[in-house]
Amino acid sequence: MDITDFTEEQLHRYARHIVMPEVGGTGQVKLLNASVLLVGAGGLGAPLAMYLAAAGVGTLGIVDNDHVELSNLQRQVAHTTERVGMAKTESAEMTVMALNPDVTVIRHQERLEHHNALEIIGGYDVVCDGTDNFPTRYLINDACFMAGKPLVSAAMMRFDGQLTTFRAHEAAENPCYRCLFPEMPPEGLVPSCSEAGIFGAIAGVMGTLQAAEVLKEILGIGESLFGTLVIYDALATEFRRVGYGADPDCALCGSQATITDLSGHAAHAKTGQS
Ligand code: ZN
Repeated sequence: MDITDFTEEQLHRYARHIVMPEVGGTGQVKLLNASVLLVGAGGLGAPLAMYLAAAGVGTLGIVDNDHVELSNLQRQVAHTTERVGMAKTESAEMTVMALNPDVTVIRHQERLEHHNALEIIGGYDVVCDGTDNFPTRYLINDACFMAGKPLVSAAMMRFDGQLTTFRAHEAAENPCYRCLFPEMPPEGLVPSCSEAGIFGAIAGVMGTLQAAEVLKEILGIGESLFGTLVIYDALATEFRRVGYGADPDCALCGSQATITDLSGHAAHAKTGQS
């Protein structure tokens, strides 16, 4: 769509964006024309889907093969008590449509795996990692690098959250997730959310920060977060910024890269989204 295509209703709906020179009508058109893939319709995916929909991001793809469980509702605010048992992608779509009918939701009722990742990710402008497990994190990183897509990534456990952006495909000096964490931790070393617990509002903080970074990436405003890890400690109410660089020996984005396709991920079939 074009700036001349705004309806009266859209001018009202997006008035608080349009009034800001950094967004304006031109920025709002960019948002309406943008497509974002959310991997996971859980704790991070819920605020992501809701704020991106409210902002008028025109197409939201949601990948998740889980169904809503009662224990999800402590933090996964896109779902409701009466939707327990419903597919999370369907529940999230209902929430998005109720918020903003301008948004088209594409439901990917499946796991992101080595054989479908490039095809799914290839259809979107920006990708968000809202998963809760390491195999899927590495898979998303590798697939985004290969498909040339910016990746906005958040993670959380107990009272802590992390946030960063990857644009490693654009320049050798831009780091990827493997530059930051070269080796996947052995299975069982890092406890899952169900084992360690999660302070529910952390999901709202981190998912909302992630949504703000996605909107910045689409609009091209402010500072992109690539090369910076933001760490949130809810108990201390403290944010820290830690810089990190590209690893020249990175197996994915280094000069002697050994990972050139996603076949190495075939062994990691177990996934789930927080
Ligand atoms: Zn790398």
